[in-house]
Amino acid sequence: MNLQQLVRKNVWDMKAYSSARDEFKGEASVYLDANENPLNDKYNRYPDPLQWALKGKISKIKGIASENIFLGNGSDEPIDLVIRVFCEPRVDNIVAIDPTYGMYQVCADVNDVEYRKVLLDENFDLDAQKLLEKTDNNTKLIFLCSPNNPTGNLLKREEIEKILNTFQGVVVVDEAYIDFASEDTWIAQLEKYPNLIVLQTFSKAWGLAAVRLGMAFASAEIIKLLNKVKYPYNVNILTQNYVSGELDKLELRKAWIQTLLKGRDYLNAELPKLPFVEKVYPTDSNFILIKVADANGLYNQLAEKGVIVRNRNTVSLCAGCLRITVGTDEENETLIEVLNTLI
Ligand SMILES: *Cc1c(COP(=O)(O)O)cnc(C)c1O
Repeated sequence: MNLQQLVRKNVWDMKAYSSARDEFKGEASVYLDANENPLNDKYNRYPDPLQWALKGKISKIKGIASENIFLGNGSDEPIDLVIRVFCEPRVDNIVAIDPTYGMYQVCADVNDVEYRKVLLDENFDLDAQKLLEKTDNNTKLIFLCSPNNPTGNLLKREEIEKILNTFQGVVVVDEAYIDFASEDTWIAQLEKYPNLIVLQTFSKAWGLAAVRLGMAFASAEIIKLLNKVKYPYNVNILTQNYVSGELDKLELRKAWIQTLLKGRDYLNAELPKLPFVEKVYPTDSNFILIKVADANGLYNQLAEKGVIVRNRNTVSLCAGCLRITVGTDEENETLIEVLNTLI
């Protein structure tokens, strides 16, 4: 893979913004370099633009060097940045599975980059050959989401491998739900595949959706390009410090995941008993996609009783489908109780 050929020329050629905190690293007693107000404390100083302390902790947990980690304002930030780094508006294109997470297309549209969708099959499985046929010389990125949203399933490893081995551009594998899955992360494969970017997030299994922290893992060269185009202080100090504290609670998080997986088992057992539930799709995520007789009707009936699920009725291959997040035991039981009143 020739990285320079894949990167937009303006991005490759440009010089990144250099902040005061980029120029001086280390400890000093008098900081007069960043036009900050010295009269306040705690939050008056600009944070580390590259979040090295936080990355150091994440690096240990994920088993990958800090140089291979990018942190952003949710994983939505790296989704946008990879498009801005690699795709020349109105010239290059992106190929992605369909249905999938909506932000890939939103970011492609904002950046005026053509977005090509390739339908999964009726089991929501990926056919690598079919996807590769949609690519051409201007395809810079392929977006895969595994486990996929809103379908819940893992994409087949062999199919992803075929794409990584064949495609000449960059492959993004979004693993927002990997902590709930029965398979391992693709992070371990980064050395083998220099064209791979893996996305993960603190929004799901870590229970930190409100702090907005997402991760991208890739070669040091790709990470440098993302850093070049990001806002200098894209992750604020409140988020950096708070997540750093949360990273010490690994056991608690493991217990949460076990609780949610049990909740998923409960819903997987109860939902098929309902006469209007036609199908409960297999899931490796913290949500379940179900097909029902009347998705709009059921959505409204649930909403009237104060239970909100996600109506996916108009999404490709998901006609008649609702997406249900696994809640607390109490919430799951309420959902099943309310559904039983609707029989
Ligand atoms: C929820 C979700 C994300 C998370 O986005 P954040 O910006 O990190 O909150 C990313 N990808 C997929 C597929 C998701 O479902």
